[in-house]
Amino acid sequence: MYDYDVLVVGSANADLVVGVERRPAAGETVLGSDLVVHPGGKGANQSVAAARLGARTALLARVGDDTHGRLLLDSQRRSGVDTTGVLVGGAPTGVALITVDPSGDNSIVVSPGANGRLTPQDVRAARGLLHGSRVVSAQLEIPLESVVEVVRNLPDGTRFVLNPSPPRPLPAELLAACDPLVVNEHEARVIVGGELDDSPEEWAAALLALGPRSVVVTLGAQGALVATGDGTVRIPSVRVAAVDTTGAGDAFTAALAWRLGAGASLADAAAYAVRVGAAAVTRVGAQESYPTEEELASLAG
Ligand code: ATP
Repeated sequence: MYDYDVLVVGSANADLVVGVERRPAAGETVLGSDLVVHPGGKGANQSVAAARLGARTALLARVGDDTHGRLLLDSQRRSGVDTTGVLVGGAPTGVALITVDPSGDNSIVVSPGANGRLTPQDVRAARGLLHGSRVVSAQLEIPLESVVEVVRNLPDGTRFVLNPSPPRPLPAELLAACDPLVVNEHEARVIVGGELDDSPEEWAAALLALGPRSVVVTLGAQGALVATGDGTVRIPSVRVAAVDTTGAGDAFTAALAWRLGAGASLADAAAYAVRVGAAAVTRVGAQESYPTEEELASLAG
């Protein structure tokens, strides 16, 4: 018996957002709007997305012993995420300092803070969580060696899903554990590291050649593509009025991980995840935009 459908191992950030008329040049000060603080970070986003859909979800992460850390713990708990794996202290909570201009363009500075202190030792100490989970989902906003430690401690029968964001070349040991590796176009290009043409089928083939058991490429409004050794399948998108795509990829990956853990085929899980990603872009924000199972059922298409 598993305690959790999905264990997310990853980052938790406070997103500090200020609207500005224009971004300051070096040495300049500009006045901005009132500060808005949102819970974010790819790990925290994924765990909230999975829990809102009804998955029994836990988060393995590190936050600071500070106001932002408490904000993140609160938002996880309110969404129904088990936070016994969220470690506290060692550095300030990670923050993303975001300025947004009237055209919607943003500039972001990320201070990883406590995310950078989630060590391989922390991962080993959380073996109980790993062993209690059907699926483990990770991203790369924590140290790469800690993500590698996750796959070294993965029990037989537990599936591993990786969204390599922010992207970088990956060790073969990590790639071999991915089932699937979930990428967008930019991530595909960085990980393959060579010239690719404009065909997502070609990106998927080049990624599969690096060793993951399966690959999923997200294609924004075009949906997604799944690829295994048996071939590739396009998953069409759901047509919606997109308002804000922030965090859509995190919602997609969390939904995919959950359905895979429930025994769905990769194509069926991706079809479900495409609906969740589409629902997420119809509302502003990241975690605030994630649908519950009921809201998903009412999405047309
Ligand atoms: P982000 O970095 O903004 O979180 P991403 O680049 O990782 O996103 P996308 O491919 O943009 O990921 O989006 C993930 C999924 O969300 C898509 O596969 C699709 O299912 C859904 N989606 C995104 N944008 C749209 C849209 N405009 N209309 C319908 N569905 C969308």
